Amino acid sequence: MKIFVKYLIINIILLVFFLPFNFVLPQKSIKQTPDTPKPRNIILMIGDGMGLPQVYAAMTANSDNLNMTKFPHLTMAKTFSADNYITDSAAGSTALACGVKTNNGMVGMLPDSTAVKSILLTASEKGLSTGLVATSDVTHATPAAFVASVASRKMAGVIAFQYLDSGIDVFIGGGLNNFVKRSDSLNLVDSLKKRNYHVALTMSDLMSVENGRLAGLIYPDHPPKVNEGRGEMLSLATGKAIEILRLNENGFFLMVEGSQIDWAGHDNDLQSMIDETIDFDKAVGVALEFARQNAETLVIVTADHETGGFTNLGGNFSTGEVYGSFSTDNHSAAPVTVFTFGPGAEQFQGFLDNTDIYRLMYKLLGFDE
Ligand code: MG
Ligand code: ZN
Repeated sequence: MKIFVKYLIINIILLVFFLPFNFVLPQKSIKQTPDTPKPRNIILMIGDGMGLPQVYAAMTANSDNLNMTKFPHLTMAKTFSADNYITDSAAGSTALACGVKTNNGMVGMLPDSTAVKSILLTASEKGLSTGLVATSDVTHATPAAFVASVASRKMAGVIAFQYLDSGIDVFIGGGLNNFVKRSDSLNLVDSLKKRNYHVALTMSDLMSVENGRLAGLIYPDHPPKVNEGRGEMLSLATGKAIEILRLNENGFFLMVEGSQIDWAGHDNDLQSMIDETIDFDKAVGVALEFARQNAETLVIVTADHETGGFTNLGGNFSTGEVYGSFSTDNHSAAPVTVFTFGPGAEQFQGFLDNTDIYRLMYKLLGFDE
């Protein structure tokens, strides 16, 4: 009897103590994220020339199996530049990188040639690690707008020079010649080494680097097409950049570009356009896998513009066949898709302007506080 009373008392005590928790706990588990979730890291992925028709062609060719189309949030963005209804990659990248409209051909500057600071340079100043990965020469317009301010995208030598003191931690692509075969006879690879960069000229050397500053200048000029020997460079470089940048507890900003989707569009080469988009999507998969494990990472996948005016005229998800026609060998004005995953993803909504993507990234990283 005594034992029973003891048992009863213990049970009442347990009930009194733990009953409230039974009501509190489920509520807590429902509300795991704070009211306004903020990312510590942002990975911005730009498919150059990758409009919705390119995404849909790749989606069809890959049997309805793309990483970007699995993102929970998506919206659209306008892409026009300051002086043209149809943007080029320089003005398009400046809008994404710096949040301003400029004239076609201009990089990291207002139309009146006032230099503007990119989100990458701001992130670096704020103590985050920063990186760029591209399947073009690293001085090409899209990566350039994140580190350089020049009146013309053609000033590759100046853009290479501006990498030196940008503070960027990791940059990977082609374009070695702009660092070593220069009209001013400077050897910028030596300059990079003096600034503690490991300068990798091959992918195998690059993959052996585990921390610190890394400059991957893997090709003399542009890397080849994915189906002409580039292989897994983009996915591997994306994974390597994340591996190094994530070591900074302040967070990181990384831009990854699938540069050659655009070139396939200019060539009206449907197969290459699909191959380049699927290759870019594999890199998206690498970023997405990291973001799924690291709850503080926002991944944004978008484009600077559409190229080729491609129209999907037929296809088959089972066989992967895709048909269509191009209406131009240049860019079109078609809005681009914005796919987002991670903390803050839901804030990309409504019909955006490309400069809104910069504005939202800036706000979400707390740079306006
Ligand atoms: Mg580009
Ligand atoms: Zn183009």
